[in-house]
Amino acid sequence: MNFKEKIRVIPDFPSEGIRFKDITTLLKDGEAYRAAIEALAEHYKGMEIDVVLGPEARGFVVGAPLALALGAGFVPVRKKGKLPGETIEAKYDLEYGKDILTMHKDAIQPGQKVLIADDLLATGGTISATLDLVRQLGGEPVGVAFWIELMYLNGREKLGDVAVHSLVKYE
Ligand code: IMP
Repeated sequence: MNFKEKIRVIPDFPSEGIRFKDITTLLKDGEAYRAAIEALAEHYKGMEIDVVLGPEARGFVVGAPLALALGAGFVPVRKKGKLPGETIEAKYDLEYGKDILTMHKDAIQPGQKVLIADDLLATGGTISATLDLVRQLGGEPVGVAFWIELMYLNGREKLGDVAVHSLVKYE
């Protein structure tokens, strides 16, 4: 399936000059949504994966069905103040200022194999912070999966030697 055709590009959102990749057009198409999850699952089939981690909110839309497809658990990564149990934190840079991602302290056991999933890789800031959380708990990141990668922002470089896989690339 040509996934790029299913993604709508909206000019000047959220600010002038940005060409926003809108996945809602893919999500509302049942066949395309299933195929986009299966295409990622195919890539990781046969690999040992204990949990899939997804940062809110679009990381849930990709990560939870991917976890089901792989027979793995799902762990939500959330903005500070949203998770009810004891948490660990990682700070990351936004365009203006900083934000904090959190995860439950008992979400990953040391040595567990962790796959991270999100809709889109831009600068890599979100996923670097997520990798930091995984490592704080002694988890072993085995890969990072995206539907979309914005190649011109070089997000991969920020993720070190963790294997990155994406379905659709924008040059
Ligand atoms: P990063 O931290 O710079 O890699 O940004 C990635 C995050 O920003 C992802 O969680 C995306 O959901 C969001 N994001 C950035 N640009 C876009 C876009 O063009 N479309 C959809 N989401 C975007």
